[in-house]
Amino acid sequence: MLSQLRRIVQDVAQEPVLNNALAGLVSNVKNALNTECCSVYLANYEQQHFMLMATDGLNPEAVGQVAIGFSEGLIGWVGQREEPINLAQAQLHPRFKVTPEVSEDRFSAFLGCPIIHHRKVLGVLTIQQGESRVFSEDEESFLVTLGVQLASVLVHAEMRQAASQNSKSPQSTGQLQGLPGAPGIAMGEGFVLEPSSDFDSISLKKVDDPDKELLRFYKAVKITKAEFNRLAERMAGHLPPDALAIFDVYHQLLDAASLGNEIEKQIHEGWCAKSALKRVVEKFARQFDDMDDAYLRERGTDIRDLGQRVLNHLLDTEQRHHKLPEKVVLVADNVTATMLAEIPRSQLVAIVSLKGSVNSHAAIMARALGIPAVMGLDELPLFHWQSKRLIVDGYRGQILVAPAEAIVAEYQTLISEDVQLSARYQSEMHLKAQSACGAPFSLMVNAGLAIELESSQPAYTDGIGLYRTEFPFIMRNRFPTEAEQIELYKKVLASHSTKAVVMRTLDVGGDKALPYFSIIEENPFLGWRGIRLTLDHPEIFLVQIRAMLKANIGQGNLHILLPMISDLAEVDESLRLIKQATFELTDELAGTEVQLPKAKVGVMIEVPSIMYQLPELARKIDFCSVGTNDLTQYLLAVDRNNPRVAALYDAMHPAVLRALHQMSLQAQGLQLPMSICGELAGEPAGVLILAAMGYNKFSMNSSNLAKIKWLLRRVDMSELQLLLPEILACQSPKQVRLHVQRFLDQKQLLNQLRA
Ligand code: PEP
Ligand code: MG
Repeated sequence: MLSQLRRIVQDVAQEPVLNNALAGLVSNVKNALNTECCSVYLANYEQQHFMLMATDGLNPEAVGQVAIGFSEGLIGWVGQREEPINLAQAQLHPRFKVTPEVSEDRFSAFLGCPIIHHRKVLGVLTIQQGESRVFSEDEESFLVTLGVQLASVLVHAEMRQAASQNSKSPQSTGQLQGLPGAPGIAMGEGFVLEPSSDFDSISLKKVDDPDKELLRFYKAVKITKAEFNRLAERMAGHLPPDALAIFDVYHQLLDAASLGNEIEKQIHEGWCAKSALKRVVEKFARQFDDMDDAYLRERGTDIRDLGQRVLNHLLDTEQRHHKLPEKVVLVADNVTATMLAEIPRSQLVAIVSLKGSVNSHAAIMARALGIPAVMGLDELPLFHWQSKRLIVDGYRGQILVAPAEAIVAEYQTLISEDVQLSARYQSEMHLKAQSACGAPFSLMVNAGLAIELESSQPAYTDGIGLYRTEFPFIMRNRFPTEAEQIELYKKVLASHSTKAVVMRTLDVGGDKALPYFSIIEENPFLGWRGIRLTLDHPEIFLVQIRAMLKANIGQGNLHILLPMISDLAEVDESLRLIKQATFELTDELAGTEVQLPKAKVGVMIEVPSIMYQLPELARKIDFCSVGTNDLTQYLLAVDRNNPRVAALYDAMHPAVLRALHQMSLQAQGLQLPMSICGELAGEPAGVLILAAMGYNKFSMNSSNLAKIKWLLRRVDMSELQLLLPEILACQSPKQVRLHVQRFLDQKQLLNQLRA
């Protein structure tokens, strides 16, 4: 049953043309359940109906013709109830509607099951039979399971369809909905970077020029064979002859008479080289997987390994083949800091990260660079994006693929408005950061995720409120040495020499991975991350602290910040190690004139547990900084990186706001300096609420700073204090936003904050 289900879903996923996929689906389901009819209807929300898309059993001419209203007939009823409906005699049911075009009079039994994705009914799958009987529990659970598995595959197929639409009619456009990652609008050409290639990420595609694909395939095979020869030579003498024989087997498999032949055939049928390779490798590997003999089953793995190598070489030549466009919209499965570094800043206009969500580090990097980003579109495979003309709307999380000229012109106007607004904010950058009534604020920048790419104006900011040290670690293929770190940290400290620079110790884990230190965990955000990892590796922690302290010589503006603290013992241990590093360095400097300035030490408040230990914390450290990105994820138990639960991740959640308010009051009572360095501080609504709560030190992406300063200069503290009780009484993030919007509207600021 399970393998049947898997195959049916895989077949749908692999067929690039939606109608063909659905036609295959209904026949496969009909055969698998040994029934007389299977049909699939898809929802059209504009027209408010379900359209018959494929059938094996009803009148084939009704396909694409018969539409059943959302509140009509049994199909509409399945959609409304969002659950399966299993009837022995469908025609007797009060909701049964006669639809003569489908010719279903000979069927009596009916089982309809909704296909639902993210709470939205995408369609209805039905099976029917002449005999009057209730379908069995097994049949029902088969259809329900299939519906669940099909949902994301269908969204995928529909998105592909949207992406492949082009501007034949002046209004038509392929519009894709993702999550807003970073605000702004940009137009450019899709440029795909693929860090790793596996068959799961390859989607099937047909092309017009098989000869070209054949040449690419031959070239990849040639390189793969040469690679095997090298490997075999290297291994000779180290492996027994029977193990070495695997390389001969690989050679033979690649030869024309074997897999090679099959792949050539598929290419002649119009599949691109990657698709042909995937189809053949998966087909053969699956045949081996299903064998009883354990030895033969293992051969499935060999075939996949072989296929993977050929695929790598195919992708290699492909990436080299694509020229970097003038305006790059970088598209990747997971946009990483290394990828950003590959694209010249002057050409990079936007980011599309198929994985990840609003506060993933890829989105934060985009905000740091001041370019729009859209996240969480992984239903659309990567290759669809290559060389496509795209409009990226980071405000709404939308992408327009191959937009019509009229739409391009509309967006061009929005882009110009954005430019004008930015200029307005910038014109006040040199003025004081204070409210209209004169209350002072300290506005600092978050830096480090892409340091050489970030533009900041040190003269008009109050220092660096969060320097994320991960970037230099991620960009290398080994841990940076103490000397390398010193050199870098010196530059950072010197960039704001008269102001505070808060350097956070290494915070990898979660969604930030080091290429040379892989951590595979079930729950990476709850796992070995930040201080937990570095305290387990004092050799890494101590080198970093020494480097920071040494870089601070002659500067004196270093503040050390500890990430992911969840327990006071972690603070004690970190302080002990910092003390140790300080003693070591003082010893080294003994007898010289050089003084080691004392660095302040602070803690990130981002794990809820530590919010309840502020009095103890205040006795141990000099300051703390609230990381609202993680605090939100941990308070709400919502992975900040997971698009499936993105709608639940909201720093404006009343629980988060109440926690922030209580902390502000407590920190004031304890005289513990507390700043905010999460993304909330860089959001207009967020910063107003935080200011109302009494926070006055904010650290944010440099691209937001001018706007936030401009906004704060236009509000009175007394107005904000009146707003606060209303906000704290809200029951949902939506209500909170509405209150702030109303406030901004009354002050005629709303329309000046976004194009
Ligand atoms: C935070 O968690 O709010 C924060 C500032 O740190 P990061 O986003 O790097 O986890
Ligand atoms: Mg954090």
